[in-house]
Parts: sequence; C-alpha cells; structure tokens
Amino acid sequence: MPTSDPFSALVGAAEAAARAPDEGAELDRHGAFPEAAVARLRAARLLAAPLPPDLGGAGLCGSDPAAGRALCRVLTAVGRGSLPLGRLYEGHVNALALVLRYGDPEAQERLAMDVRDGHLFGVWNTEPEPGGLALDGDGNLSGAKIYASGAGSVTRPLVTARLGDGRRQMLVVLLEPGARADLSDWRAQGMRATATGRVDFGGLTMRDAVAVGAVDDYLRPPFFLAGAWRFLAVQLGGIEAVAEAHRAHLAATRRGGDPHQQARLGRALIAVETCRLLVARASALAVAETEDPERIVAYVNLARAAVEQAGLDVLALAQRSVGLAGFHEDHPLERLSRDLAVYLRQPAPDAALTGAAAFACAADSPVHRLWPEEA
Ligand SMILES: Cc1cc2nc3c(=O)[nH]c(=O)nc-3n(C[C@H](O)[C@H](O)[C@H](O)COP(=O)(O)OP(=O)(O)OC[C@H]3O[C@@H](n4cnc5c(N)ncnc54)[C@H](O)[C@@H]3O)c2cc1C
Repeated sequence: MPTSDPFSALVGAAEAAARAPDEGAELDRHGAFPEAAVARLRAARLLAAPLPPDLGGAGLCGSDPAAGRALCRVLTAVGRGSLPLGRLYEGHVNALALVLRYGDPEAQERLAMDVRDGHLFGVWNTEPEPGGLALDGDGNLSGAKIYASGAGSVTRPLVTARLGDGRRQMLVVLLEPGARADLSDWRAQGMRATATGRVDFGGLTMRDAVAVGAVDDYLRPPFFLAGAWRFLAVQLGGIEAVAEAHRAHLAATRRGGDPHQQARLGRALIAVETCRLLVARASALAVAETEDPERIVAYVNLARAAVEQAGLDVLALAQRSVGLAGFHEDHPLERLSRDLAVYLRQPAPDAALTGAAAFACAADSPVHRLWPEEA
C-alpha cells in the first residue's frame, strides 16, 4: 500500500531491492559481487538515505527514534533478501555514520557528493599482522587491509591507518573501480557474493584520501562498538530467512502436523522473536545515546551474544527438521545456511559476552535496573 511516511517507503524499497530469488543462487560463486542488487539500492535512493536531508539524504542515520527504527527495519529487510547484500549495505551505512559523526563539515560535504554520485562506501578495519595499513608523517600510505568486503567495487572505503606513534586515523580513500583488489583468498563456505578480499594501499598518499575525525576517534565509546547493532539487524534478516525456509518446507511437505516438527519450529520462532526484540532495544539504546557509553555497549554486547546463539540454534533446528534435503544445492536452506553460518562470525564474540557480564558485576545497580525499562 503506498504510504506518505518516507521511512516506511524506504523499508518497502529495501525489501523490493533485495528480493530477487534467482540472483542469490547465480551469485553463489567465489569472487562474485551483487552488482545489479547494489544498482537497485542506488536507484531506490538507499545509498544516499543515511545522509541528513541537507546533504541530500533521508536522515536514516539521525538520532530521531523513528529514523533508528526505520534503519533497523531496512537493514533486516535487506539481510532477509540477501545476506551478502546486507553485509555490503551495512558497511556502507556504517562508513557514512562514522563520516557524519566525526567528519568536519568540509569532509562531510565532499563525501556526501560522492554518495550522491553513487559511490559505494565500506569500513575496512581488519588487517594482516604484520603488514597493516600505515600512514607516515609525509602523508604516504603503505600496507594492506584483509577481509575487505566489496573489494574492487567499494570505491570509498573508510579505513583505519596506524600512525608512527601507534594511534589510528580514519581516512576515506578515493579508489578507482576494480583497483588494488585481490579476491583470491576468499574461499569461504558462504557469503561468497561479498567480494571480500585483500586491498593493498602502497603508493597512495593523502592526496588520494579524505581524513575523517581526530586520531583514535574510531574506537571512541560508545559510537563504533554500539554500532554493532547494525550488523545484528542484518543477521536477524538472515535468521528470519532460514526460519522461513524451515517453515515453508514443513508446509510444502505436509509434515507440519507432527508434534516433533511443531516443537522445533516453535523453538525457532521463539529464537527469531527474541532476536527481533533484542535488536530493536539495542538499536534504540544506541541511537538515543542517552545512557552512559558503557551501559549502551554492554547491552549491544549482550544482544551480540544472544543473536549469535539464536542464529546457531535456528540453523540446527531447520537442518534437523528438513533433514538431508536441506543439504542439497537446489534446496533454499542450503545456501541460506552457509551464508548465515559465515556471517555469524564477527570479531571477538567471547569478549562481547564477558564484557557485558563484567559491566553487570561492576555496576552499582541490581539486574533489573541495569538498563532502562523503555528505550
Ligand atoms: C562476510 C564477511 C565480511 C567481512 N567484511 C569485513 C570488512 O568489510 N571489513 C572488515 O574490517 N572486516 C570484515 N570482516 C571481518 C570481521 O569484521 C571480523 O574480523 C571477522 O569476522 C572475525 O572473525 P574471527 O572468527 O576470526 O574472529 P576472532 O575475533 O578471531 O574470533 C575467533 C575466536 O577466537 C576468540 N578470540 C578472539 N580474540 C582472542 C584472543 N585474543 N585470545 C583468545 N581468543 C580470542 C573469539 O572469541 C572467537 O571465539 C568480514 C567478515 C565476514 C564473515
């Protein structure tokens, strides 16, 4: 139904742009990149949507609670349609959120122009050890990033570069399409269509980059760490897609009346709904930013641990209910399972859980007051 609410319209557009049932199977090969789907996001103005209206966007990254709820739904809708596309779009949004938070007005204007021109952004932080990205005192870049999604297609990556004193500076590097990307190492079980690879920055200088923020802004709490809620929103979409493949299989095979099958599907539905509630609350706390940074990060970390476990549970339940058919290449569950299993791997999951527990132990409030009732 057409709606005048710009945020609801964006959610609908995201759903439509990501939904292309045959595309996922076609792109399930090493080195692939969802060019057509990114073009649909661009055409639906979803690449520019995170920018504020005065920079040509829809304000999707704003601190307005309605914007936060809409961004959450947009990310989940894209992830439900395609986890690889969701990963790429989440990286784009993440980069713009950092630019809008820390960039000076000149950097924001300059980079917003690139967004409006259709460039895809991303955040490339992971690096080889040794051999990570460094910036010397003369403005020369050297070294590489690894696990860089969209390598060769993301033409405006936000990277962290180590300075001589060990601190880190955020930069958006201005790359040409296809340049410097080495996808040969990305032979993962799933998430093949993310073109995740190694990018070498040797020979580039600050003339090829725009500095964003002050030194060490990247990990300044709570912004980046709390921003993990955005990948949780995408993961939620992937978890919903697996649960839907489970449900559809039971309906199609008329096995849904069996009490064992019903119990497994019921547990999967609880896991999905638990994720939805946790991700909504994590996003509300992170977007409002009215609590102490440690309190916000602890809640997002708790949500990280819960969503990871729920994703693993939903995978196991679906695979047991569908059985061997779900491991055949022509069954929808097969690729969805591989994509979700890979995308659930995020940095330092143990530290997310123990960090939340450490916060609770050190807090001077009882468990029921650790987080506000309404977020
Ligand atoms: C599809 C995909 C796309 C990605 N795209 C990007 C991208 O565009 N940009 C980017 O920067 N990164 C990207 N990444 C990388 C991502 O951000 C993480 O770095 C990566 O997924 C971490 O994986 P890991 O399991 O090796 O993590 P780890 O953090 O190494 O965790 C592995 C295990 O070791 C434990 N562990 C971690 N640290 C320690 C320690 N010090 N001592 C003992 N145990 C420890 C963890 O708790 C966990 O159990 C991508 C990842 C995926 C899957």
